[in-house]
Amino acid sequence: MSNSIVIIGAGLAGVTAARCLRAEGYEGAIHLIGDESRLAYDRPCLSKELLAGKVDEPAAILEPDWSKSANITLHLAERVTEIDVANRQVHLQSGGHIPYDYVLLATGSRARRIQAEGGNLPGVHTLRTLEDTHLLKDSLVSAKSLVIVGGGLIGCEVATTAIGFGTNVTVLECGDELLLRVLGRETGEWCRNELERFGVHVERNAQALRFEGDERVRAVVCTDGRQIEADTVLVSIGAEPADDLARAAGIECQPGGGVLVDATGKSSDPRVFAAGDVAAWPLRSGGQRSLETYQNSQVEAEIAARAMLGKPQPSPQVPSSWTEIAGHRIQMVGDINGPGEIVVRHNEKSDSRLLFRVLDSRVEAAISIDDPRDFSIASRLVTRGVPVSTPELTDPQFSLRDFLKAKA
Ligand code: FAD
Ligand code: NAD
Repeated sequence: MSNSIVIIGAGLAGVTAARCLRAEGYEGAIHLIGDESRLAYDRPCLSKELLAGKVDEPAAILEPDWSKSANITLHLAERVTEIDVANRQVHLQSGGHIPYDYVLLATGSRARRIQAEGGNLPGVHTLRTLEDTHLLKDSLVSAKSLVIVGGGLIGCEVATTAIGFGTNVTVLECGDELLLRVLGRETGEWCRNELERFGVHVERNAQALRFEGDERVRAVVCTDGRQIEADTVLVSIGAEPADDLARAAGIECQPGGGVLVDATGKSSDPRVFAAGDVAAWPLRSGGQRSLETYQNSQVEAEIAARAMLGKPQPSPQVPSSWTEIAGHRIQMVGDINGPGEIVVRHNEKSDSRLLFRVLDSRVEAAISIDDPRDFSIASRLVTRGVPVSTPELTDPQFSLRDFLKAKA
């Protein structure tokens, strides 16, 4: 067993791994290094409750005194600048270095920047950190018109919230539908209709060419020449895994981003593990990528922590996440984009929906819109791979719960 584990990134994956190491009985030194000024907080609320003013502070992921009682050496507002794999030490921006037996890279991802003239004007925002939320909220308080570039998860969540500020909201999405990456075409279209009912103006096949303004952004000029008035802009065009340290250390990464790891989190350097958004983790359905979700980040961090202690439990991941759009709770499991057919179960009484991607009588992925109860059953259909017919799935009178019980 090792004597020093360095965790780079004090976000969700970092603190989850630290907690798991102690829970598994690891007694060596744990250094948890994060460049934000506070320890991991609830990031999902940044685009939802916190922006809406429903909470004043994001919840902390660990109890405030836990790190002290668990004897974790915390380095906050500190950046790791290099992993020296030859000498097994990490270098700190403030100077000095820390030796390690194992490193966990838990550096997450960062908001993708837009390559467009005027992208740095005041009033143009991205959203990843607590500080970003405060800046965006300050702008929204007096905003007349908000343009959101990118109609994915952040774009649609913020559009929902921003309407509450009495702002005109336009979403510019370069694809031909919203939310295609995670929710697929059917749910993307459904969300677009709901957002439009909410009062959001949605432009598809639309891209920002440049941002105009002097002291502050005034308008967005699209590639087709249209000009849209905007005193506030949110750029939400995806995330990029923060894999720079790994690349510089010669550790294998995916060309599109993300540290390549096996199903225990181990990278091409056996002393360096990765978990959370920065890790391109193997999927149960094949291939590997950063999953960019809360639940998968937590699970990966626990698997990697155990593997560093010599207790490997290889676990290819099934994506699992949730979002809140236009007042609806949407949950998803598996990859909705893929081969097979999409079938829908609509409960007219509750106006809730379950969508399934079915391949060879097995549910590969499911999405729930306002149906958390049956979603937990749908999740089990996905993870257990129980054969089920389309008429059974689509009939809201057919009890999936009883069906699953009978198969147990
Ligand atoms: P992070 O939480 O990003 O933490 C990484 C930390 O490492 C950061 O603090 C970063 O600053 C730090 N760091 C990076 N480089 C260095 C370095 N060199 N030295 C020191 N520290 C460093 N997921 C869901 O499933 N559902 C949701 O509803 C949802 N909502 C979201 C809303 C928003 C606005 C955002 C941005 C994300 C949301 N997510 C959601 C995604 C989820 O928050 C992430 O998947 C999760 O936070 C990933 O955890 P992580 O620890 O890998 O990365
Ligand atoms: P995303 O990948 O969900 O959406 C990005 C969208 O921007 C896509 O629809 C894409 O087609 C579009 N786009 C890309 N380039 C564009 C351009 N130049 N012009 C117009 N549209 C463009 O990413 P996001 O919404 O930015 O979210 C960032 C990160 O935060 C992701 O990791 C995401 O998973 C995470 N997040 C997750 C949740 C959740 O799970 N509920 C919520 C918020 C954020």
